[in-house]
Amino acid sequence: MFSYIDHLECSVCGAVYPHNKPIRTCTACNKVLLARYDLPKLKREVDRGAIEGRHSSMWAFSELLPASTPDDIITLGEGGTPLLRAQRLGASLGMSSLYIKDEGLNPTGTFKARGLAAAVSKAKEVGLTRLIMPSAGNAAGAMAAYAARGGIEAHVYMPQDAPDANKLECTTHGSELNLVDGHIGDAGILSRARAAEEGMFDLSTMQEPYRAEGKKTMGLEIALQLGWRMPEAIIYPTGGGTGIIGMWKGFHELLELGWVEGELPRFIAVQAEGCQPVVHAYDAGAETSQAWPNPHTVADGLRVPHPFADYLVLQAIRETGGTALTVSDAEMVDAMKEMAAAEGVFACPEGCATLVAARKLLAQGQLDPEGTTILLNTGSAYKYLSLLV
Ligand SMILES: [Zn+2]
Repeated sequence: MFSYIDHLECSVCGAVYPHNKPIRTCTACNKVLLARYDLPKLKREVDRGAIEGRHSSMWAFSELLPASTPDDIITLGEGGTPLLRAQRLGASLGMSSLYIKDEGLNPTGTFKARGLAAAVSKAKEVGLTRLIMPSAGNAAGAMAAYAARGGIEAHVYMPQDAPDANKLECTTHGSELNLVDGHIGDAGILSRARAAEEGMFDLSTMQEPYRAEGKKTMGLEIALQLGWRMPEAIIYPTGGGTGIIGMWKGFHELLELGWVEGELPRFIAVQAEGCQPVVHAYDAGAETSQAWPNPHTVADGLRVPHPFADYLVLQAIRETGGTALTVSDAEMVDAMKEMAAAEGVFACPEGCATLVAARKLLAQGQLDPEGTTILLNTGSAYKYLSLLV
């Protein structure tokens, strides 16, 4: 079998839905739907060694992805990114086992490629032809690319101060681009109204089941690249939080399959000082976040004032003994230069927030310097050259 996807399940009320029809959120409670796979059957039929011999892309894990057949995949070669040992940065921090998962090598230059490859593939499989999305920038660029690749229509609502690179990739890939005077929350209001008016399918993250499935493969790859072993901690720049939720879900699936040794890694969420709804909720012991007023940061991917799946991000952090903290814009930009000079990794400000966070947590005694720690770099610096001038 190619995919072992079985059904969708509501993350809150447990309601079950078929995966072969268009659906966004739970129709009973409007919460996040998660894809569920026939893991007992997969465990009986497939050995993890089969994954290792495959061509390196996220679709090496096709059994744990939603596309039903190889013909349903819309791909530009996403995933299969390197897990780089960061020896010089590790020495400077006093860490013995520090790695960078470098998502800047993806098509469209960011980790958004994984989520949108999965979501656009499944959208086309279930017969959708008109997609729409509000985006801080990079997700829209990825949707535009995969929609073009799949020969389907895409519409984007983006803050007008998003990076030019993101605007240009949308229009160049043939998407309709609408610029919004405001942040991604404001873009979402307009986008949802348009979707309802014209019957378009809204691919807002965590408001459909499959972007998280693509993001999940970052975790599956990390486990494989460490020799089917869990890391101790993953430091993750958190906007919508889809990557944390996806990796957390993926690690649970690997444990259930018996494919990985070790315990779940600690998930450490990093946000910008100017937009920190998840950190605020974590510190307050709350189960959900409050919308962050007047969100601002140079790291566009972190400018998400009220993540739809905040309750799942907070669950993932707490279940794994993780934590949440903020960094400043100036610290992120300094860290771009530090990471590039020390390791040759030309990383976006969001990704470099993880380096700042590691240093802060070590100073506070909240990170084991001997543990295997992953800095998750979500994208390339090429879309943020103006920060480096
Ligand atoms: Zn529900």
